[in-house]
Amino acid sequence: MTQVRSAAAQPLLSVNGLRVGFASRSGLVQAVRDVSFTVARGEVFAVIGESGSGKSTVAQALMGLLPPSATVEGNMRLDDLDLMALSKRERRRLSGEHMALVRQDALSALNPCTTVGYQIAETLMVHRGTTKAAAMAEAVRLLDLTGIPTAKVRVNQYPHEFSGGMRQRALIAMALALQPALLIADEPTTALDATIKAQILDLLLKLRAEFGMSIVLITHDMGVVARMANRMLVMYAGQGVETGEVGMVFERPAHPYTRSLLAAIPRLGVRADSLAAIPGQPPSPLSLPAGCPFHPRCGRAEELCTQQQPKPLILAEGQSALCHFQPEKRDVRILA
Ligand code: SF4
Repeated sequence: MTQVRSAAAQPLLSVNGLRVGFASRSGLVQAVRDVSFTVARGEVFAVIGESGSGKSTVAQALMGLLPPSATVEGNMRLDDLDLMALSKRERRRLSGEHMALVRQDALSALNPCTTVGYQIAETLMVHRGTTKAAAMAEAVRLLDLTGIPTAKVRVNQYPHEFSGGMRQRALIAMALALQPALLIADEPTTALDATIKAQILDLLLKLRAEFGMSIVLITHDMGVVARMANRMLVMYAGQGVETGEVGMVFERPAHPYTRSLLAAIPRLGVRADSLAAIPGQPPSPLSLPAGCPFHPRCGRAEELCTQQQPKPLILAEGQSALCHFQPEKRDVRILA
């Protein structure tokens, strides 16, 4: 199989016109519609959106984990590898060696019948042919690296003997075993309390610096994006509706949905009951509104929005938004 090569000029990951559909009794459910983005080497790229926006489907498409019933179209490249052209076997191998996924539910992601250490070691034994003794020693090192105390003892324990935070660290250790170029973290802190969440996010940043890997961070939490990411993609109803540098998007959000998400962030000195909520619910992918899918919830919608799909609005410095209208002056510096 072709190996992933380093080429500083091109992005590590590029996704172009990705579409994912699922056959259902009610027809084709188009969960991801024409999503494009790139991820540079060493970059943390956040994909943010509400539940059902399609962000986890993007992660599964990247990892080749979608069910056979899914139809996937578009282009996905990891360096010079065309992910769409790989066989299932090549894809599995690539997923272990060059891309790894950290899921949100560590308890169900780990095998309850096998020790945590063996689950990490198995990756090395299968992919690298490492002996069991050497692989278990490496599992101890990786658990230690991810901040698990008394790793020599913990390596022989089962997932139920770990706390939620330690299970998440163990999943990260497993993902790091083969030193992937790209780590996809799908809501890695959702089930954790605030202190452990902060520790896991710090750990991911530390490991990124240490291993020089890129991270695609899937989240619904703007606070996590602000803390972690260099660039971001906002998803709504299966589409990427805004992308850009995190500082730029937070400072000057261009899409009304992004502005609504930012306005809903709790802040010191702002009463919880005065936070702006986004009216209504995200649409079902089976019955998307005509025109812009955000129009029933958008405070800025006009007649045009109910009739025509917007085209991307290209703004300064790599920022773009899927909206018919330029951002108004009153919309900028929402967090100031
Ligand atoms: Fe709102 Fe219209 Fe822009 Fe859609 S196109 S986000 S409805 S203003």
